[in-house]
Amino acid sequence: MVYKLPSLSYSYSALEPFFDKETMEIHYTKHHQNYVNNTNLIIDKINLKNISINELLSMIDVIPLSTLQRNFLRNNAGGHANHSFFWKILKKNTQPNDIIKEAIIKSFGSFKKFQKNFENIAINFFGSGWIWLIKKNSILSIVTTKNQYNPLMGKNVNGFFGYPIIALDLWEHAYYLKYQNQRSLYIKAFWNVLNWDAVQNLFLKSEL
Ligand code: MN
Repeated sequence: MVYKLPSLSYSYSALEPFFDKETMEIHYTKHHQNYVNNTNLIIDKINLKNISINELLSMIDVIPLSTLQRNFLRNNAGGHANHSFFWKILKKNTQPNDIIKEAIIKSFGSFKKFQKNFENIAINFFGSGWIWLIKKNSILSIVTTKNQYNPLMGKNVNGFFGYPIIALDLWEHAYYLKYQNQRSLYIKAFWNVLNWDAVQNLFLKSEL
């Protein structure tokens, strides 16, 4: 299988003014494309075929590779998976419904507490990485991963495993053009473009 950029179900300007058109276009056509190209390069070398990107994430530790190749694959396959996930959970003007609200309140005490925790952890995260809401054993938790690591890569890589429900890209390339050094504004803007319908589907779909 050759990995491809997934098609977007909206235009680059669809998330304006929160996520700007220029950032969306560069992020998708340059950054994401680069992760796809690099993943294909190494997949071709080791002759791995017909493996979904999420399956690939869970096997990176057991594929025979040099440490250098393994890190390269982990970051690029992770980059492809993370961005593919991210684009799907973005949409303006959606609201959390009762199912997801109740699950969040059960795990965090209140919806406000969840948002505050998420914002604080995202603002204080050092360097490049991602913040996630993950589900495991019906419990929701907020976690971060460095580089392009993904919660599905598991304990050996991240110290935890979980099914992604929400993701926010914390790399500067995700916000620098519009927000420069003000990561907090980007994080607050995120609530306006988070697709709660998609989040709820992910919550219901992941069995654990
Ligand atoms: Mn990115």
